Amino acid sequence: KKCCINRLFQLNVSTEGNEQLIPISSFDGAKLHPVMLENIRLAGYKVPTPIQRYCIPAILEGHDILSCAQTGSGKTAAFLIPILSKLMGKAKRIAAARPYDGQRGYVAEPLVLIVAPTRELATQIFDECRRFCYRSMLRPCVIYGGADAITQKMELERGCDILVATPGRLTDFLERGKILTLKRLKFVVIDEADEMLDMGFEPQIRKILQGTDANEDDDQQVLMFSATFQKPIRKLAKDFLADAYVQIKVGRVGS
Ligand code: ADP
Ligand code: MG
Repeated sequence: KKCCINRLFQLNVSTEGNEQLIPISSFDGAKLHPVMLENIRLAGYKVPTPIQRYCIPAILEGHDILSCAQTGSGKTAAFLIPILSKLMGKAKRIAAARPYDGQRGYVAEPLVLIVAPTRELATQIFDECRRFCYRSMLRPCVIYGGADAITQKMELERGCDILVATPGRLTDFLERGKILTLKRLKFVVIDEADEMLDMGFEPQIRKILQGTDANEDDDQQVLMFSATFQKPIRKLAKDFLADAYVQIKVGRVGS
């Protein structure tokens, strides 16, 4: 099968000259946590897909990224693998530091937020996240509309390190207060950004990103994924990613 990889990677605005991003050619070649390497093996992933070859080292190195690749190119693992691998090194501390409010259980203060447009996509990401969190102490949760909010809230109260959410339910929980706070976020992932903009979620996305931007955590990484590369996406990236964000485009883009 012919694979047309238009490996157009570039540092958008380089602050320190033309930094090189060296893609990995195998999962073993990336500096991943042993538990993550084992979970990749259990998932049956033998070699990284093109988007994963670039995204994994870029995210491990701490860059913000805007990444465009067609559906089915493995974008979910491209962000889950490096993010979760980074957290695995301190999973014990993370679990011990979960804020506990005696009466209500845990107040959810996730370290990772992944926003996806639909319940189906959020569930898929959550399932993959659970697989990659296996045998770590990291606890993922998922929230979406059209389902019982009380049950989802109870899950959050049991502790949530990684939150997968649709924009509507997330906004709802944030506005109701005391369920969830985003002040400890280390990673914000906007998945299927183009689809969310098409669905009219731009105000919600911007509000979420503005809120997390105000955290004043210099370490916080923002990662945007999209199947297309239209102007509204580039504008969103320009507004919320670090100046030196990395663009990673694979396959036919620019449509
Ligand atoms: P996208 O988000 O780009 O549409 P997904 O993340 O949903 O793509 O991945 C598409 C499919 O490819 C999924 O079934 C996933 O499990 C599988 N996959 C991802 N990465 C790999 C890999 N490195 N090796 C084998 N299969 C993979
Ligand atoms: Mg996807």
